[in-house]
Amino acid sequence: GITIKDLHLSFGPTEVLKGVNLDIKPGEFFAFLGPSGSGKSTLLRSIAGFGPRPKGSILIGGKDVVALDPWKRNVGMVFQSYALWPHMSVRDNVAFGLRERRIPAADIATKVQEGLELVGLAHLADRMPNQLSGGQQQRVALARTVVTEPEVLLLDEPLSNLDASLRVQMRRELLRLQRKLGLTTIFVTHDQEEANTTSDRMAVLDGGVIQQIGTPQELYDTPANLFVANFLGTAN
Ligand code: ATP
Ligand code: MG
Repeated sequence: GITIKDLHLSFGPTEVLKGVNLDIKPGEFFAFLGPSGSGKSTLLRSIAGFGPRPKGSILIGGKDVVALDPWKRNVGMVFQSYALWPHMSVRDNVAFGLRERRIPAADIATKVQEGLELVGLAHLADRMPNQLSGGQQQRVALARTVVTEPEVLLLDEPLSNLDASLRVQMRRELLRLQRKLGLTTIFVTHDQEEANTTSDRMAVLDGGVIQQIGTPQELYDTPANLFVANFLGTAN
């Protein structure tokens, strides 16, 4: 799981995260919604260890990681632009992070195979990225992250480049994978329906402040304030 306490982050004089508190249980699928510029990506990036160092604490598996380098945090992140290495095969793309972690070659081969099977792409291991569809590339990006067995999986609009039907299909696959592996997951999306149908709980962020946390049902039935009601379209 992950616990965030009073997280503040500024770019120069501008405070973008203004005291974020969050407690996500092991194995939970947690979605973040919020308007453009509200700080969603900044929050995810600060959990992963990219960008300026925030004030406050980020506990992953009980350990404060705020002062740690990204690769020591045991988190995996998938972005909207999931750029695979263009000059490496699917297999090598998935193996890359494992090689960096100095895992023995035989174990890497096994893990890569398992990772590609999880996303249904074992048969395409020898292809190059430009020989794959967008959805297949997105699956490789997911496999590449999942094989490192992160304690927390961070997903920043990972499906937004896909067309609507593929998006729905990938959403189901993502959830199945998340459940199967019991991955603690934070999922940022602009798509309310996507958040509602996938998440155990969700939060609405605005202006670097969490406006409400709860199950999708709770947020829709009892929005905490007018902003949440308007944002979710439940105000009347
Ligand atoms: P979107 O939904 O458009 O992806 P977001 O909620 O992810 O938006 P962020 O990318 O976290 O928003 O940005 C939050 C605020 O921080 C914005 O006002 C943005 O301009 C600012 N910001 C982000 N990165 C930087 C940076 N490197 N330097 C200065 N300001 C930044
Ligand atoms: Mg963003």
